[in-house]
Amino acid sequence: MENLLVDIKSGDKIIIEVDGIKIGGPEKVIISGPCSIENFETMYKIAKGLKAAGVNILRGGAFKPRTSPYDFQGLEFEGLNILNQVGREFNMPVVSEIMDIRDLDRALKLIDIVQIGSRNMYNYPLLKEVGKLNVPILLKRGMGATLKEWIMSAEYIMSEGNSNVILCERGIRTFEDSTRNTLDLNTVCMLKNNFRLPIIVDPSHAAGLREIVPNLSYAAISAGADGLMIESHINPLSSVSDSRQTVSIQTMINIVNKVKCLNINL
Ligand code: PEP
Ligand code: MN
Repeated sequence: MENLLVDIKSGDKIIIEVDGIKIGGPEKVIISGPCSIENFETMYKIAKGLKAAGVNILRGGAFKPRTSPYDFQGLEFEGLNILNQVGREFNMPVVSEIMDIRDLDRALKLIDIVQIGSRNMYNYPLLKEVGKLNVPILLKRGMGATLKEWIMSAEYIMSEGNSNVILCERGIRTFEDSTRNTLDLNTVCMLKNNFRLPIIVDPSHAAGLREIVPNLSYAAISAGADGLMIESHINPLSSVSDSRQTVSIQTMINIVNKVKCLNINL
């Protein structure tokens, strides 16, 4: 590989600060919230529970990249407005996926971190555009992307001037079909050792099954992940998207508490 900005040989490890929360520092950062923002009341109740649980950053999808065009596509800007209001109410920074360059300017007034989804990891015009911004970018791994392809997508962003890139491993497609994807912790270790960017793990999309999300979370922290992004809901069964992988607030309380202990013992 040529001399890359993402490479550990090019400089210090990058720590990204959002409202005093440091991603890539000694403290593990927990991001959680529903797959999709559904309405104000539900988002408010979820955020209230997550804040009390010790979750640092609130997530919620407003522009949803659904496999079927007939499935719920998200509340779009109405959803981002809800997320923004609720985030301010509970003093939590917010992250949401943006898919279209044309939505960026308006979205930036409402969110603190821009998520680039798995399906858009190869969207080079979008990567270049967010590279011109000065806000943190959460770059999810393409579901069929190698470490090198993923790192190169991060390089696209950094080469435009934005070094605030958080990598997010969310499972890759393998021959195994008993889970939605396969969580690739090898790559988490490789990234920690050889590259400068913070790396978080999304066990929800990796698993597709809520019952294995807690153990995958602990495994990810033990592998050296800087944090987690987990889908949660006050009533997981009623979640309008990704219900099967969505955990309850009580599960989030358990995960946050255990991650704190693990962090001390590692
Ligand atoms: C998400 O986090 O809401 C999402 C759609 O994930 P991914 O892009 O990893 O499929
Ligand atoms: Mn989801």
